[in-house]
Amino acid sequence: MRTISSVLAMQRLALKWRRLGPRVGFVPTMGYLHEGHLSLVHRARRLVGPRGKVVVSLYVNPTQFGPREDFSRYPRDFARDAALCRDAGVDVLFAPTDAAMYPGRDQGRYSTYVVEKTLSQSMEGASRPAHFRGVTTIVAKLFNIVLPDVAVFGAKDWQQAAIIQRMAMDLNFPLKVVVAPTKREPDGLAMSSRNKYLVGPLRPQARALWQAIQTAQAAVRSAPTPVSAARLKRRLCRQIEDQPDARVDYIEFFEPETLASAAKVRRGTHLALAVFIGTTRLIDNARL
Ligand code: AMP
Repeated sequence: MRTISSVLAMQRLALKWRRLGPRVGFVPTMGYLHEGHLSLVHRARRLVGPRGKVVVSLYVNPTQFGPREDFSRYPRDFARDAALCRDAGVDVLFAPTDAAMYPGRDQGRYSTYVVEKTLSQSMEGASRPAHFRGVTTIVAKLFNIVLPDVAVFGAKDWQQAAIIQRMAMDLNFPLKVVVAPTKREPDGLAMSSRNKYLVGPLRPQARALWQAIQTAQAAVRSAPTPVSAARLKRRLCRQIEDQPDARVDYIEFFEPETLASAAKVRRGTHLALAVFIGTTRLIDNARL
């Protein structure tokens, strides 16, 4: 496995691959890798085959964090991440610096962003202004540097995956976006680098997100007719906030492709939620 930190070196290698022919699979991450990330790496390998190239990027992107969010304390462990990537058969770990990705940003000399205008308005976009502008910008930049044939994203961040698919279509990126299923802990908690923050009594309370998803699934499956979204939201909210340190940020029911809000919930409607467990903000989603 090669580790590359220079944008130019990564782009030169990507251009060489493009000339020589191997298919390139790409998994963008912010590091502190877990089995969810590794499942995307294995998916990328299956998609490009044994002779293809798999690139993982490891970059905690400052422009997708709000001023009061956890950018500076976001968990980082480069040595461990590199070992996990090597063991997973990654060909290149691309780990650039802020100076390489956003040259001159501190001096106001970085000023180009990619903005998706529709899908990014609700849910994470409503709670975290400028978050998706940071995501689409960094992913567009990474696509231009790595030049992948296929990029793999996790269903864990459903709205993000939908926005990236839309961006790739709208801006004619010549690649395929693949969305892979969410990996969970044995108790149902979706794997996340931020789960590291859940110490002591907070960890068991974090089960509340998966329990809410299960409650919604049971409610939809047992009801003879579509269920009122407002009423189900109130019920899930009460159930979650029964945990002493849990506070609901949002619960949304929507159509999985368009992200259009649903007033009635039926089989196939998608549920997404964001919940603070103490000061840690967790998200999850599922098809009902
Ligand atoms: P992150 O490092 O959190 O930015 O995530 C990098 C990629 O891994 C994104 O496409 C995420 O959706 C995906 N991902 C994160 N957690 C999981 C999980 N539990 N299962 C599957 N994919 C995940």
